[in-house]
Amino acid sequence: MAVLQRAISTDQSFRALAAITTDVVREACKRHELVGAEAIILGRALTAGCLLSTLTKNDDERVRIAFRGDGPLGKVVIDSRSNGTVRGYIQLAEDATPEPVPEVLNGRRRVGALIGAGSLMITRDVGLENPYQGIVELTTGELDDDLEHYLTRSEQMPSALTCEVILDARGGVLRAAGILCQTFPGAPTEAVLGLQNSLFHGSLADLLRQERSPDELISFALGGEPHETLAATPLTFSCHCDMNRARSIISTLGADDIDALADEPGPTEVRCSYCGTRYVLSPTELHALADELRRERS
Ligand SMILES: [Zn+2]
Repeated sequence: MAVLQRAISTDQSFRALAAITTDVVREACKRHELVGAEAIILGRALTAGCLLSTLTKNDDERVRIAFRGDGPLGKVVIDSRSNGTVRGYIQLAEDATPEPVPEVLNGRRRVGALIGAGSLMITRDVGLENPYQGIVELTTGELDDDLEHYLTRSEQMPSALTCEVILDARGGVLRAAGILCQTFPGAPTEAVLGLQNSLFHGSLADLLRQERSPDELISFALGGEPHETLAATPLTFSCHCDMNRARSIISTLGADDIDALADEPGPTEVRCSYCGTRYVLSPTELHALADELRRERS
């Protein structure tokens, strides 16, 4: 199941979003062959992406989240849209060996050391000429924590955000979910601090020891406050790469290098970093592409 549920407290002081992302995170981890610590990191980031791309009423909003930490798993990129589609990857070094799953500390597995120090950049594209871009320093490297800091500081939206991935005995994804609570403009800022504390100290991980419905997550997020449930959006892992995109990536090499590539033994493969799909071009296709580029230039 993967769904995003929206709700608003009856007194209209908070809004809450709950995302159950188990299927989305499983699909991503299957495509990228990730388990353990890597699954936790990509899963938290994908879940946060789903929660962050629904902040405006705009149907075509697109959010790109880029973590750039100096730790072994510090480079994470997420691309999510307000229609509920999301894709993303961890950029691993060629010779990377799997990192051990971090121990539980104060109720959750701390991944900060694997992310390291660095920055977080968010790009929001709502179809205007210039997308909005903000950058902050990573605070703890726990991903949700850094994004919460970003929302509160850079977007001036006092927020409480937590995302969690629970692993099964083999390091695969058992459950994944996230919660985002925000106060409305004019509400006292302190109101969100209590939520931040209760959300960050491992309670979501405890809650996810068993299967939960979106409503249960919303009630947890709002501490049992009466609320009204609003629209829900199905969430899916989805990428919009295709063969044309693969060809245009190869085209950047230039005609001569493409010919050289075609003469090398074996087919040429372009792998989409977002979804892992492999596009294979035969030598004949490569020579044709090189000829096409020459014709365009002349
Ligand atoms: Zn793709």
